[in-house]
Amino acid sequence: MPIPRRSIVHMATSNPRFEAISRIATAKHELGRIDFRTTHLKELFGANVFNEEEQKARLPKPVFKALQKTIKQGVPLDPTVADAVASAMKDWALEHGATHYTHLFQPLTGLTAEKHDSFLTPTGTGKAIAQFSGKELIQGEPDASSFPSGGIRATFEARGYTAWDPTSPAYVRESPNGSTLVIPTAFVSWTGEALDKKTPLLRSMEALSTQAIRILRLFGHNDVQKVFATVGPEQEYFLIDKHFVYARPDLIHCGRTLFGAKPPKGQEMEDQYFGTIPERVLACMADVEAELFKLGVPVKTRHNEVAPSQYEIAPIFEDCNLATDHNQLAMDVMRRTAEKYGLVCLLHEKPFAGINGSGKHNNWSMSTDTGDNLLNPGDTPHDNAQFLVFCVAVIRAVARYPELLRVSVASAGNDHRLGANEAPPAIISIFLGDQLQDIMEQIEAGALKSTKQGGFMEVGVSVLPKFPKDAGDRNRTSPFAFTGNKFEFRAVGSFFSIGGPNVVLNTIAAESIDYIATHLEAAVKSGKTLAQAIADLLPGILKESKKVIFNGDGYSAEWHAAAEKRGLPNLKNTIDAIPAIIEKKSFDLFAKYKVFSDRELNSRYNIYSENYAKTINIEAQTMLVMARSMILPAAMRFQAEYAASLSALKAAGVDAGVQLNGLKSLALQIEKLHGAIAELDHAINHAGNGDAYSHAKYMRDAVLPKMETLRIIGDHLEMIIPDDIWPLPTYREMLFIK
Ligand code: ADP
Ligand code: MG
Repeated sequence: MPIPRRSIVHMATSNPRFEAISRIATAKHELGRIDFRTTHLKELFGANVFNEEEQKARLPKPVFKALQKTIKQGVPLDPTVADAVASAMKDWALEHGATHYTHLFQPLTGLTAEKHDSFLTPTGTGKAIAQFSGKELIQGEPDASSFPSGGIRATFEARGYTAWDPTSPAYVRESPNGSTLVIPTAFVSWTGEALDKKTPLLRSMEALSTQAIRILRLFGHNDVQKVFATVGPEQEYFLIDKHFVYARPDLIHCGRTLFGAKPPKGQEMEDQYFGTIPERVLACMADVEAELFKLGVPVKTRHNEVAPSQYEIAPIFEDCNLATDHNQLAMDVMRRTAEKYGLVCLLHEKPFAGINGSGKHNNWSMSTDTGDNLLNPGDTPHDNAQFLVFCVAVIRAVARYPELLRVSVASAGNDHRLGANEAPPAIISIFLGDQLQDIMEQIEAGALKSTKQGGFMEVGVSVLPKFPKDAGDRNRTSPFAFTGNKFEFRAVGSFFSIGGPNVVLNTIAAESIDYIATHLEAAVKSGKTLAQAIADLLPGILKESKKVIFNGDGYSAEWHAAAEKRGLPNLKNTIDAIPAIIEKKSFDLFAKYKVFSDRELNSRYNIYSENYAKTINIEAQTMLVMARSMILPAAMRFQAEYAASLSALKAAGVDAGVQLNGLKSLALQIEKLHGAIAELDHAINHAGNGDAYSHAKYMRDAVLPKMETLRIIGDHLEMIIPDDIWPLPTYREMLFIK
């Protein structure tokens, strides 16, 4: 049937941008979904978690005790206990409306993965019962052949299995039409090699604990059984109306805009940071928080961030493993919840060029199972000495392994932040603050002395001051800052699993603590007092490590020059950073602490290279689609209109004058657009052969520059094409229409 002419005309003139705006203007959102007068916060917290309290109430006493020993001290779980735990867990989950269970794991895509199994088991008599065995709890075997393994598995040995991590409690995730019992797991190959982010994290925590306890024993803390890395990740994100996102292929497929001219108003007024939160956004945030409370995630703060439509959520810190799981969960809940409010949560590191991107400040410290923060300057000279030892260990660790910290935060997305004109720089350095820096300088100069009584040393004063907590404002440019009682690693990207960066932090810290413990133990054994041994050891370490300490402006050109003189690496992008994974230094380190085998490191090197190449390829393909099917047709329509208008002028006998130049310049832009499209197309179709890394390198060197050229032309056209023809929601609309 022929299409009536009217509808053809309508299709040709309807503009997806206008449509989006008018839908947003008339949308009614259901904002009041939770009433905190009837739903009390403290009852909400952990309501969907099979936590210690539930375990205690539901498990036979010996089973409960055995499970707690596994959770708190890492004692292997007795398999006979597993059946009892599984059965109690299942009953609890069914009461919470669960129909299925899943082993949740964290493959190297950086996301989480899951496969659901029903609790239902047919009895063979036409009926069925709900069943869940210890075996099903402990181990799962997803068909995981499609997850990246970086060469660890050939397809014929593609099996991987998931292993229950009892230290991260199971929970029920609610969804319409039945909830799911979620069991956090590690994901390993049949040969026991790590295919995920959790396995090495657990190994690195073990290494850190073992080494830190040696120092604690020297200080006489014989009660401590375990030391945990503690982490509090501050998560930045954007919320954009879904109608805008649906009209932009780049946001849908890449999570960032590949075109988009600068808005007349950006973030220069600084009227957004800590500003009043828009009502719909606040409703969404409160909903996210309520969901996370139910899941036992201790979210604490929320506020507007620097860029328009950018926000932050931060939890109270937890042990590193739990913090990592909870951050993954938080990102998941944020994305799901945003949809309920007609919003899309963008977690990409740089969704919009020209305004701030998003990061994740990874606050990191170490804590004993008796509750002491090892990076908290204490109240006595004895505590101070211990603090100084751990603090110097971290400084040494960062000074020795800056490349590993850098590569732990490297991705195509984060390349737009690190090394670009934005916080923080790609050069890894440590900010200590004036006071602590001064103390470290004194120690280096030999000011650390043991006291006459043979007790612990002093540094000019007998008790160290409490260091001010740097709220981040005093030196936002430092990638690694001491903030009172913890270090804040600020280079992590918003979309990252914090697993990777913390594996590196834990392992390099373990190595330095090991080094210090070995020297102190030997000195004490040879008859020195501990105080003297410390006073003898620390100055040399600081001398060798101080090159990494920098309190100034990390953006400045002077710093870049100075850092080079100091011999600090400046790995500007992912391709520069990735080779650090397979350097001898890295193999040695991770093998020594049993965190990664050589094969596991090689596999990661391949996977991160592949990820980079794939990301750039998807972006380039998306750009081509947009340029050809959206920007070019809009430009041609304008050109036709323009030309028709000039012909009419000419027919009327009017001289077109300057207007003719306008048309000529438009035609030239369109020519350039054609050219840039052809060049990008050529570049992505001639990637050549080679290993994953050389492919990735090709994408950086040959494809990215073509994308940049195409973008400049596209953005220029956006500024001259008539508003009613331009199809893509603009920055000024996406960021400011709420
Ligand atoms: P800000 O950085 O805005 O000053 P805070 O210093 O209060 O805020 O905390 C930022 C994050 O650091 C929070 O998630 C907090 O729980 C976390 N944090 C605080 N103490 C520690 C610690 N000892 N170990 C790890 N994270 C911590
Ligand atoms: Mg902070």
